Amino acid sequence: MDSQKAVRQQTFRRLIKYVKPYRLAFIAAVVGMIGYAGVDTFFFANIKTLIDDGLAQSNPTILIYGAIFVPFIFLLRGFFNFASTYFLSYVGFHIVSTMRQQLFEHLMRVPVSYHDRVSTGDLISKITYDTQQLAEACSRALLIMIRDGAFVIGLLGLMFYHSWQLSLVFLLIGPVIGKVVAVVSKRFRQVSGRIQTAMGNVTTTAEQMINGHQVVVMFEGQKQEAERFSEINKVTRQQNMKLVNTRTVSTSVIQLIASFSLSMVLVIASFPTMLEELTPGAFTTLLTAMIMLLRPLKQLTNVNADFQRGLAAAASIFSVLDQQKEVDTGKRVLDRAKGDLQFKNVTFSYPEAEEPALHDVSFTVEAGKTVALVGRSGSGKSTISSLLTRFYDYETGSIELDGHDIREYTLKSLRRQFAVVSQSVTLFNDTIANNIAYGAAGKVSQERIDEAIRLAYCDEFIDNMPQGLNTVVGENGVMLSGGQRQRLAIARALLRDAPVLILDEATSALDTESERHIQQALDNLQQNRTSLVIAHRLSTIESADEILVLEHGRVIERGNHETLLAQGGAYAQLHNMQFGGIE
Ligand code: ADP
Ligand code: MG
Repeated sequence: MDSQKAVRQQTFRRLIKYVKPYRLAFIAAVVGMIGYAGVDTFFFANIKTLIDDGLAQSNPTILIYGAIFVPFIFLLRGFFNFASTYFLSYVGFHIVSTMRQQLFEHLMRVPVSYHDRVSTGDLISKITYDTQQLAEACSRALLIMIRDGAFVIGLLGLMFYHSWQLSLVFLLIGPVIGKVVAVVSKRFRQVSGRIQTAMGNVTTTAEQMINGHQVVVMFEGQKQEAERFSEINKVTRQQNMKLVNTRTVSTSVIQLIASFSLSMVLVIASFPTMLEELTPGAFTTLLTAMIMLLRPLKQLTNVNADFQRGLAAAASIFSVLDQQKEVDTGKRVLDRAKGDLQFKNVTFSYPEAEEPALHDVSFTVEAGKTVALVGRSGSGKSTISSLLTRFYDYETGSIELDGHDIREYTLKSLRRQFAVVSQSVTLFNDTIANNIAYGAAGKVSQERIDEAIRLAYCDEFIDNMPQGLNTVVGENGVMLSGGQRQRLAIARALLRDAPVLILDEATSALDTESERHIQQALDNLQQNRTSLVIAHRLSTIESADEILVLEHGRVIERGNHETLLAQGGAYAQLHNMQFGGIE
């Protein structure tokens, strides 16, 4: 419990730091809030004069003064209202955008394993929803605490000034109302929480149906999906009704309690001594003040909940910002590597995996040579590529580039040495030209882009596109076929012109003919580069300098095509399966 409190305090202190750069605006907002409450209190303070001196004594001057004074008061009120809202929002939105930017940038610096672990939806909702929630909840809490707080103090002061006896009635009833409000608010929070979960289910179920629309239709899952959705829909509706009921009943209960206090006030006011003392103006002021107090008091009871909601959002944001960045302690800066690669007894397990994905793997690729990795899916081929680019850090053994452990290089220097074409191609919702020149924007000439396109055999389909190179490919390239996407990825790699090329089943989605064309381009590309080629079609790697056969993370065979075939082991077996015993 105490440690929880400590965490909350820490979160709060950290939050304050975000406000610091905007402290002037913040102070202006607070002044606005207090001014607003002050104006309202002042207005009520003058009701007595208006009634006792103006109406009761039929004094027209007072009423005329009043007529001038009312618009002026409202002008002032408007001004303070504007100042408080404007500056509070100013600070709030600045903090939202600062946090969003920080989250966005931080998520590009955390290790790949973090993204493996945390779902995309969660992270996106932190960037979009939690930041907003934080600002809204905290602004609201602050506004209520200061503005309504000051107003309550003002009104209570006014009441006691006019009659402490009658004010005491309120102080007795006040806590009872407060208690009711607290109970109701708790119920509110419970129901709201359930509505939020239910809404989350509505979204997830709808999303799943929309994304899986084709599968649903093909497997005749419409009825099942409709029923599932109907169930969730019902829960949302029921909870919403509960919320409305709670609200209506609670309002009536509070009004009933307030009516008791009103009766008591009337009873006490009927005592002869009181009757003498109270002027109609003072009595009106007291009654109005009591009624006016109800709303801000109700708000104040809820302020803690708002504040907690804001803190919870802040904690969720900070938990991401506190994620350690990728380890980048290397100091060695490398412009262009020669391309000597060496794996020495590398053993590696993914976080939380039981079996190591790589087991005592050793091999060497001399600069300019080509090593091919073959083996069943799940044997650890892609993992080798991920370790080279330091998406994951290995614990035992070492990986060297140009004779130095890859951890000695800065991450930037290291990653710059690789061009990776992997099975899954990521495209941005941008033009084809920008997708190919991604990361090299503005630094490469049109000729080089055109050449890359030609070599990767992309011109054939790009020419048929409505806007050619300037065609936008849609979210993750939905407008392109698998093979077209792979060809774009190859063009992108060609343009990158890195000393080490990693092809991870880079042509798996191509038909045999396009593959043959591209193979030519890839062969050219590999000429003066170190290449690591992972291929499922053995025909593409026959000319590799060395072929490693992996199984369960171990290298079980190595050699060139001829020696491996002659050996008659796993490679020969794979080969026979693919070529149907032609040889
Ligand atoms: P290949 O590329 O040869 O098909 P991988 O290198 O992708 O195989 O995978 C090797 C093993 O590691 C598999 O058992 C796979 O389940 C596991 N693996 C791959 N990626 C991850 C990951 N991000 N987290 C945990 N385990 C993984
Ligand atoms: Mg793979």
